[in-house]
Amino acid sequence: MEKIGRFGDFGGQYVPETVMNAVSELQEAYERYRNDPQFLAELRELYRNYAFRPSLMYYARKMTEDLGGAKIYIKREDLNHTGSHKINNALGQVLLAKYMGKKRIIAETGAGQHGVATATICAYFDMECEVYMGREDMERQALNVYRMELLGAKVTGVDSGTATLKDAINEAMRDWATNIETTFYCIGSVMGPHPYPIMVRDFQKIIGEEAKAQLMEKEGKLPDCVVACVGGGSNAMGIFYDFIPDKSVRLVGAEAAGRGIDTDQHAATISKGEKGIFHGMKSVFLQNEEGQIAPVFSISAGLDYPGIGPEHAYLHETGRADYVAITDEEAVQAFEYLSKTEGIIPAVESAHAVAAARKIAPTMRPDQILLINLSGRGDKDVQQIARYRGVNIDG
Ligand SMILES: *Cc1c(COP(=O)(O)O)cnc(C)c1O
Repeated sequence: MEKIGRFGDFGGQYVPETVMNAVSELQEAYERYRNDPQFLAELRELYRNYAFRPSLMYYARKMTEDLGGAKIYIKREDLNHTGSHKINNALGQVLLAKYMGKKRIIAETGAGQHGVATATICAYFDMECEVYMGREDMERQALNVYRMELLGAKVTGVDSGTATLKDAINEAMRDWATNIETTFYCIGSVMGPHPYPIMVRDFQKIIGEEAKAQLMEKEGKLPDCVVACVGGGSNAMGIFYDFIPDKSVRLVGAEAAGRGIDTDQHAATISKGEKGIFHGMKSVFLQNEEGQIAPVFSISAGLDYPGIGPEHAYLHETGRADYVAITDEEAVQAFEYLSKTEGIIPAVESAHAVAAARKIAPTMRPDQILLINLSGRGDKDVQQIARYRGVNIDG
């Protein structure tokens, strides 16, 4: 028997007693609703009429011809409402909160993408929304702070620690434990204590289910390789999950190598991390010699997390999925490449997957299929890429 909430040795519920009550209540609620026909029907309806699913399956003809290997398809999560896969998860969790009778939603956010998705759905459902955000991130992402406020959310700055994403998560956990009666904590990736890794993956697995059906219709077969970028790992788990039993399908996660995995400025958790316990889960984390969580760096704020979801740690350990590290420079080149070849400006996170695909596709045969998960659109990143390239866009 598989232990509940475990992926091999990874996962679990490593939380202080004060948080355990909230975790247990959530676990019970999720067990109750995860197979509830009414809950699932309502979620499908929201996927369709609010997120605008199914997202398109796009044949990247020019990229295929240019790379001269596998036939390349792109799953267009960038076309969802709010511009990324994050809406799938936020819809699921806020709907669950409604079923649980909670009136208040809290969330953490790094770059602001998950905060914006959560604030969006709270606006739609008339829920009170408070988003914790590191003070450092609030300064870097001022536009997303205003966007959340526009959507009716309250954004609370966090000054503790490095004043970034990991500190925002700590603060949200503290709030959740204190306000368990009224409050639901909507976490942004496949991480944290059980049931979050399973629940968030369940809300994202629609990506892989759709992709499989769409490729069956277009090509009559499974892809040979599926590539996705990995921060916490939710868009990757979303597209991987339905393909895990299909052993012929190679699964590849692209993590952020920042300025290089031999520098101390990267977020390459699988390449350089070690087993540890943090944010309520046993997984793999970037740590210093004393086991303290190390600072992370990536050009893409969405991949800038010092850990990885426990199911990825397991897929890596068992060899079911491979993980490659993509540098900032490679990601920026892929950002420019996809823009110029296909006329699609990808999120800089997703550009890590495109960069990995550019390396893998030429090693494959023309009768094989490579599928890229394009997790988000790149409008939010244009300014930063221009700055990276030294282009003056301030007039
Ligand atoms: C947040 C984000 C990611 C990283 O998160 P995962 O949980 O690893 O998917 C990737 N792409 C985009 C567009 C994002 O907004």
